[in-house]
Amino acid sequence: MTKPDHILIVGGGTAGWMAANLMARQWLDRGIRISLVESPDIGIIGVGEGSTPQLKAFLDKIGVEESDWMAKCNATYKVGISFVGWSSKPGFERYFHPFPAQADRENYRSFVYHCLLRRQGLDVGAHPDRFFLPAYLAARQLGPQAAENFPFEVLYGYHFDSQLLGEYLRDYAASLGVNHLQGNVVEVRQNSAGDLAAVVLDDGRTLEADFFVDSTGFRSMLLQQKLEVPFDSFGNNLFNDAAVVLPTPQSKEINSQTISTAMKHGWAWDIPLTNRVGNGYVYSSSYCSADDAETELREKTGLLDSDVEARHLKMKVGQLARHWHRNCIAVGLSQGFIEPLEATALHIVQETVESFIRNFESGDFTPRNQDRFNQLVRQRFEGVRDYIVCHYRANSRTDTEYWRDNAVNENLSDSLKDLLGTWLEKGDLTEEIRRQDIAHYYNTISWHCLLAGYGVFPDQQSLRPTTEQERGYDLAKIDEFIRRCALNFDKHSTQLANLGASAA
Ligand SMILES: Cc1cc2nc3c(=O)[nH]c(=O)nc-3n(C[C@H](O)[C@H](O)[C@H](O)COP(=O)(O)OP(=O)(O)OC[C@H]3O[C@@H](n4cnc5c(N)ncnc54)[C@H](O)[C@@H]3O)c2cc1C
Repeated sequence: MTKPDHILIVGGGTAGWMAANLMARQWLDRGIRISLVESPDIGIIGVGEGSTPQLKAFLDKIGVEESDWMAKCNATYKVGISFVGWSSKPGFERYFHPFPAQADRENYRSFVYHCLLRRQGLDVGAHPDRFFLPAYLAARQLGPQAAENFPFEVLYGYHFDSQLLGEYLRDYAASLGVNHLQGNVVEVRQNSAGDLAAVVLDDGRTLEADFFVDSTGFRSMLLQQKLEVPFDSFGNNLFNDAAVVLPTPQSKEINSQTISTAMKHGWAWDIPLTNRVGNGYVYSSSYCSADDAETELREKTGLLDSDVEARHLKMKVGQLARHWHRNCIAVGLSQGFIEPLEATALHIVQETVESFIRNFESGDFTPRNQDRFNQLVRQRFEGVRDYIVCHYRANSRTDTEYWRDNAVNENLSDSLKDLLGTWLEKGDLTEEIRRQDIAHYYNTISWHCLLAGYGVFPDQQSLRPTTEQERGYDLAKIDEFIRRCALNFDKHSTQLANLGASAA
C-alpha cells in the first residue's frame, strides 16, 4: 500500500477523538484526509473520568491549553490514587500510589531500601505514604502546581467529565480539519482481497476509505465483528465485569486524588470534578447482583433514600488477539479493556495510536511493522493487567468469598509470579523489573508502593531492631523535607480557581 488517501475513524468516543487529533496533527498536512463517523443514537460510554500523567502529554502534544480545556470539562488535577480498605494489616489499611515528583528522587532510594530491610524482618518504617510529596499534597487537598521559585516538578494527571472532554476533542479535531460525520453504521464491506473497503450508513450513504480505525467501543464492529479477530478474555484473573455509577455533589475543598475504596465484591471510585463527585462501584457479577451493588454504593455515598438515578454498565475485560489486522486498527474499548482501577485506558489509547503512527510511517504505510506493533500493544496490555491483578492478589481482606478467592487466585502470569517470588524471597525487585524489562508499564516505585502499601512483608511477627550497619534513613528528616516542599503548593481549589476552572 502507498500512503493512504483517506483514513476513516468509526466511533466518536474519547478514543476515536484522541486518534483523530493525533492523526490529524501528524498527517493532514501530508495529504491524508481524516474523517470520523459516529452514531447520533448510540452515544458514548460516558465513564472514564480519571487519567495518568500521559493525558497531559497528549494534550500538550496536540496543542491544547489547560486554561481552556479544564474549565470546559469541569476538570481537576490528580496527583495519584489512594487505596482504602484493601488490606486488613494494622498500619496498612490505606496507602497512596503517587505520580512521580522530582523532589522525591532521593526519597525513592530510601523507600526501596526500607522495603528491603522490612522484608528482611527489620523494624523500619516502610509505608509508602511517609516517603512521597504527592501523598502529602493529596492528604491535604493541595494541588500539583508549585510556586514559581520551587525548582522541582510534580507530574500529574486529571479528573474530567468524559462527555465534555469528548466534545472538546471533537471540536478541536474539527478545527484542525478532521471531517466529522454522523450516522449509524449498519454494514461493513470488504474488497475481494478481504481488506475493509467501506462502511454503509442507515441513510444509505457509503463511506469509502483505504484505512480504518475501529473505535466503536465494546461492540468492536470492524475488527472483532467483521474481521473476526479473536478476543482473549482476562476473566480468569480479573473477576470484575460490571459497574454501577452515581454522582454526588462537590464540596468546597476539592480532592487532588482519586480514592479507591474496597467494597464487599469489588471497589468504588471517588473522582472529584469541579461541579460534582463521580462515584462508581466496579464489581464481579459472579459474586454480587446489580441491585446489591447499587444498594452498597448508595449506602457508601449517603444516597440510600435519594432518587438520583444510577447507571449500570457491563465490562468486557481482555484484549484482541491482534490490534492491527488487515487495513484496520482498533483503539479504545474496541481493542480491549483492563478494569479501571489505575485509570489506564486512555493512556493505552494514546500509546496505541502513537505506536501505530510510528510503525505505519516507518513501514512506508505498509503492514511491514504490523507484527511488531501488535506485539508491543499486547505486551502493554499484559504489563498493565499484571499490576492490576497484583492489587487483588495482595489484598488481605477475609470478609467475603470475593476477596478470599482473589487472594488465592493462582491464574497469574509467569512475570507476576517471578515478581512476587522475588519480593517474598527478599530479593532485588528493581533488578527483577529490569531483567523483565517491564518498568515502562509500572516502574519499581509503583511495584514497591503496591506491595509495601498493602503490608505484604514476610515474617512480621517478630521484627528486630536495626544494627549500626543496617541503619535505615531518618524518617523525621524525610518528613521535614516533604513538609518544607509542600509549603510551595496552594490548595487545589485555589489552583483551580486561578485557572478559571472553579466549581460551576
Ligand atoms: C466502569 C468504567 C470506568 C472507566 N474508568 C476509566 C478511567 O477512570 N480512566 C480511563 O482512562 N478510562 C476509563 N474507562 C475506559 C473509558 O471509559 C474508555 O476507554 C473511553 O471512554 C473510550 O471509550 P471508547 O471511545 O473506546 O468507546 P465509547 O465511548 O463507547 O464510544 C464508542 C463510539 O462508537 C460509536 N458507535 C458504536 N456503534 C456505532 C455504529 N454502529 N455506527 C456509528 N457509530 C457507532 C458510538 O456512538 C460512540 O461514539 C472506564 C470504563 C468503564 C466501563
